[in-house]
Amino acid sequence: MRHVILGAGPAGVSAAEIIRVTEPDAEIKLIGAEPEPPYSRMALPYLLSGRIDAAGTHLRKTPGHYAANRIEVIHDRATRVDPANHTLMLAANGNIRFDKLLIATGASPIIPALPGSDSEGVYPCWTLADARNIIARAKAGAKAVLIGAGFIGCILLEALVTRGVRLQVVEMADRMIPRMLDRTAAGLLRQWCESHGVAIHTSAKLSAIDQTAGRLAAQLENGRALKADLIIIAAGVRANTQFLQGSGIDIDTGALVNAHLHTSAEDIYAAGDVCQGRDFSTGQYDVHAIQPTAVEHGRLAALNMCGRNIAHQGSINMNVLDTLGLVSASFGQWDGGSDSAEFSDPAGYRYLNLQFQEDVLTGAQAVGLIEHVGILRGLIQSRLRLGKWQARLLHDPTRLMEAYIGASRNISFFSRV
Ligand SMILES: Cc1cc2nc3c(=O)[nH]c(=O)nc-3n(C[C@H](O)[C@H](O)[C@H](O)COP(=O)(O)OP(=O)(O)OC[C@H]3O[C@@H](n4cnc5c(N)ncnc54)[C@H](O)[C@@H]3O)c2cc1C
Repeated sequence: MRHVILGAGPAGVSAAEIIRVTEPDAEIKLIGAEPEPPYSRMALPYLLSGRIDAAGTHLRKTPGHYAANRIEVIHDRATRVDPANHTLMLAANGNIRFDKLLIATGASPIIPALPGSDSEGVYPCWTLADARNIIARAKAGAKAVLIGAGFIGCILLEALVTRGVRLQVVEMADRMIPRMLDRTAAGLLRQWCESHGVAIHTSAKLSAIDQTAGRLAAQLENGRALKADLIIIAAGVRANTQFLQGSGIDIDTGALVNAHLHTSAEDIYAAGDVCQGRDFSTGQYDVHAIQPTAVEHGRLAALNMCGRNIAHQGSINMNVLDTLGLVSASFGQWDGGSDSAEFSDPAGYRYLNLQFQEDVLTGAQAVGLIEHVGILRGLIQSRLRLGKWQARLLHDPTRLMEAYIGASRNISFFSRV
């Protein structure tokens, strides 16, 4: 059996390893478009802040790991897939036949098509190559403008401040990380960043980038111009499905899959940022674009490619962010439930918001309350019925630990009788 895995990120690497364990005799080819050993984009901020070197971003650090597992790593770009003939076309290596194919090509950053957005000194931070470009310019004291204060933008914010750059952030929404935090939580994060010397411009839109005598300026629609030595674009991502056009594989915002991560084409699966996988909370199919989901998809798709017939129960949409020492997090359906509870301590940079459907916790946000992160996830994922503990949490949401232990005890009591 020949398994071809397209994409050498966390989804592709996890899939290759699971196939090796499940089918010891299978042939496995792992194809990635970048000229690097398989690495984690999630580690790029640590490279920027100098905590690790480039080798520290590699997904597997044991020398010879892939050869030892008989996983052939190929550096090439797929240009087309022909499902009927089970064939993949590569830019340099010609056609490759597959018995089973996994599409794990991830996503690419969206660069707004604006005047000057291709200037020297304007980069996304998506690849190791991007990170090297940024490091070359982000010297202590340099001026940097970050376009986008979403999840990725805010991760980069921390790394850039650690490098000692003078940072301004431009966000077109009215608050930071609007897809992760409500107004109160985002307000705390903004205040925290500003108290650490970062200028935040919300409801502000980039209109052009000027480059005069080697100096850059981000022109905003409100007429302001922010001078910079470096401009980093973190304005969202798009699934890498372009090469699937014309293949007949169904695509929406990502490759469409069923609960077995199988696409609409026979023997072709998809995993990670490139696909719309099942959401645990809603049951709908959506792109999550986080590493834990990519790894979970990769493992499950691999088992299904090996004939194990395992359905995906869905991934929890969760984001945990450490911004200059302030941890913020959101889980599941954080922006809507039938009941909600709130704890707010603005002076202490602490905030907790819980969302319930009946007596089940379905979503949450937390700022500055790191001790609750594990419990929040556990409560949502287990769909634990809180019973009388829900009323207590509505009164005081910080009693999460007691609620978790108390409600779990009820379950073990009833399951014994
Ligand atoms: C700066 C940064 C910080 C992040 N921080 C976090 C975090 O803290 N927590 C978190 O959960 N997530 C984080 N993420 C998101 C996380 O990195 C992604 O969700 C994850 O990488 C998705 O894995 P993947 O395997 O689906 O795709 P990717 O990691 O994007 O891998 C895709 C692979 O496909 C290859 N490829 C693409 N097109 C082709 C083609 N046509 N032919 C052949 N190969 C192709 C690429 O070269 C690459 O090898 C971060 C991302 C960035 C950029």
